Amino acid sequence: MYFHEPTYDLDILCRQNLHIHSSFSGCAKPEMTLNDIVRTAELNGLEMIAITDHVQAATEDEFRVSLSMLKEQAKTIESPVRVLIGAELSAYGVNNFNYPNNDIELDYRLWAQNHYHVSTWIQPEDTSPVGYKNHIIETLTNLIKSDRADCIAHPFHDEYLTNSKRLNVGFAKGSVPSCFSDNEIGDLLTLGREHETAFELNLNAMAGYPEFCRRMYNIGKEVGVYFNIGTDAHSLDRIDTKQFIERTKNFLL
Ligand SMILES: [Zn+2]
Ligand SMILES: [Zn+2]
Repeated sequence: MYFHEPTYDLDILCRQNLHIHSSFSGCAKPEMTLNDIVRTAELNGLEMIAITDHVQAATEDEFRVSLSMLKEQAKTIESPVRVLIGAELSAYGVNNFNYPNNDIELDYRLWAQNHYHVSTWIQPEDTSPVGYKNHIIETLTNLIKSDRADCIAHPFHDEYLTNSKRLNVGFAKGSVPSCFSDNEIGDLLTLGREHETAFELNLNAMAGYPEFCRRMYNIGKEVGVYFNIGTDAHSLDRIDTKQFIERTKNFLL
């Protein structure tokens, strides 16, 4: 589902940050307590935030515990900031999702499809850039049609692949996104619009793919898909979305 009125105005969109990791994500700093995240968002004038801790197949039970702790904590915090307690879930491949029975209650369901560096992630048979591009299309099409995604995290990019020593794919960063035709991007974004699945403007990842992100943004505007903004914050100093917005405008607009 969507969480705000449709707009492509980045100054309005940057009042949200829908991709923040709390200290329950092992990779986030210990300072990322819910209380301090909300206070920081408030000080920076944000209107809506989402807590999106990682979930892997092996940590689904553990995640249920941290989720209920966060929900309890959220009840005790008074703030004008709207706080969504969600998750960054894993779509490992076609019909291969966290919580296959969809039995988890989240305020916000952000799905990562391209964490290929994680050892449990499914790799395509064809490990060329085109093979990965096709795998992304198949997995995202299946995920969006399953109606379990409010938003796709850091869509289309291949940084996790090309940075991985374990995978050693042998092609350069940006090879996979550049394989997508405008029609292929358009079809996925149109499907997103039909299923109320937004695509993330991930202010962290986008800086590495300025050209591609401009294409995605322009095609998205044409087909009427929604974009949500997130910084993938793992520390308090990255919660304020607005600090990245001028840089983002420079390559998007
Ligand atoms: Zn991620
Ligand atoms: Zn993340």
